[in-house]
Amino acid sequence: MLLYQFEDLLWGKKKTRSTISKSIKNEVLVRQGYKCYKCRRTLPAVKHFHHKRPVSKGGKNTLANIIALCPNCHSKHHHKQRVRKADRKARKTKEPWDIDFKF
Ligand SMILES: [Zn+2]
Ligand SMILES: [Zn+2]
Repeated sequence: MLLYQFEDLLWGKKKTRSTISKSIKNEVLVRQGYKCYKCRRTLPAVKHFHHKRPVSKGGKNTLANIIALCPNCHSKHHHKQRVRKADRKARKTKEPWDIDFKF
């Protein structure tokens, strides 16, 4: 997210990242009864909209692809994803003690 904003600044581009329209946001909120998709608590004033399929992977700003989360669940969700990715990476890369030495 920050990277995109930085790119926009750098190239002076107009926002290429399409923002979720107000009507979609409203529909998502109504669909969820103004509750967080995960913890089911009533959403605070600051609502986070999350793409089930990331925009970077072709996800669209459609009702089917967007869920509303509270900031807490949203950050947790992304944190988990990052951890999982890092895990996979760690397993792929050989640790120094995995390397066989041949004399
Ligand atoms: Zn929540
Ligand atoms: Zn998200």
